[in-house]
Amino acid sequence: MHNAAAELMGVINGMWGIIGTWEMAYEGVKEGALVLKGQGHIFDALETCVRMVEDCSEYSSVGYGGLPNAAGVVELDAAFMDGETLSIGAVAALKDFANPCIIARKLMTEKLNNFLAGEGAEQYAHRQGFPRKNMLTEKSKEQWLEHKEKEMAKRRELNPYTGHDTVCAIGIDGTGHMAACTSTSGLFYKTPGRVGDSPLPGCGYYVDNRIGGACATGLGEDIMKGALSFQVVQYMGQGMSPQEACNEAVKGLNDRLVAAGRGRAGDLSVIAMNARGDFGASTNIKAFPFVAASEKQPLATYIAKCEEGIVTVIKA
Ligand code: ASP
Repeated sequence: MHNAAAELMGVINGMWGIIGTWEMAYEGVKEGALVLKGQGHIFDALETCVRMVEDCSEYSSVGYGGLPNAAGVVELDAAFMDGETLSIGAVAALKDFANPCIIARKLMTEKLNNFLAGEGAEQYAHRQGFPRKNMLTEKSKEQWLEHKEKEMAKRRELNPYTGHDTVCAIGIDGTGHMAACTSTSGLFYKTPGRVGDSPLPGCGYYVDNRIGGACATGLGEDIMKGALSFQVVQYMGQGMSPQEACNEAVKGLNDRLVAAGRGRAGDLSVIAMNARGDFGASTNIKAFPFVAASEKQPLATYIAKCEEGIVTVIKA
């Protein structure tokens, strides 16, 4: 074991775990778990997981086939974080590249300029030899046209459609090394240049080997208001289990936003894993599915439910 902090926390040598958001992460978590089981590196496991979702055109909120912005352009946000060094790599509003998660991983190795947006991110990806790819599928284009026509017919200001999801993954490998990764096309019909929580450290993700990691999905504008992922990790650092930390952070931010007079908060869902490989999740929406696998628990889909203000997790 190379990680002294993990050793202090009593991590059993060889113990591994991986958790991902939404049902779309199922195949990716399965493959990522195989990497970890075979004593692979946590970065490879998370890249395998998130890349599979990015490559699948069926998922309309991540990577290829992601729904476009109001101008009909697919703009992607993604990030990678190393729980050992706390290094981050992130891209925002990236166009025309297939795997933003791999570009984010590469950016994580740089000394400076770790978070690039728009054209600068595209130039970096090109310099690094990543191939360009048109990420707009016919299906996504049709949905965009349909939405545009409906909005025009209503003659009101064009608002981002509320459908959105981010694939997030957190994991720990057999050496006690943790990491987190996120990837999304953000809100459908967003204003060009809009950046959500997913590439922002502390908001869409945060991980520290000494404690654990957390990732968020939901309305980026509201997740940012509470630096939700950082808050979950801080709670775990204070001794809470991943489940308690997720519940406390989601409930806290939800209540704070409601108290701010808005009626209801936007969608807030989080997953977390600690440095022992225990995991949890929480949400303020009716049902939030997630997928997990670890040395201790076989691959399974779970559903976090929000009932009467009390957030519980049940197995699907
Ligand atoms: N959080 C993402 C964003 O606001 C979308 C989502 O996860 O549903 O861009």
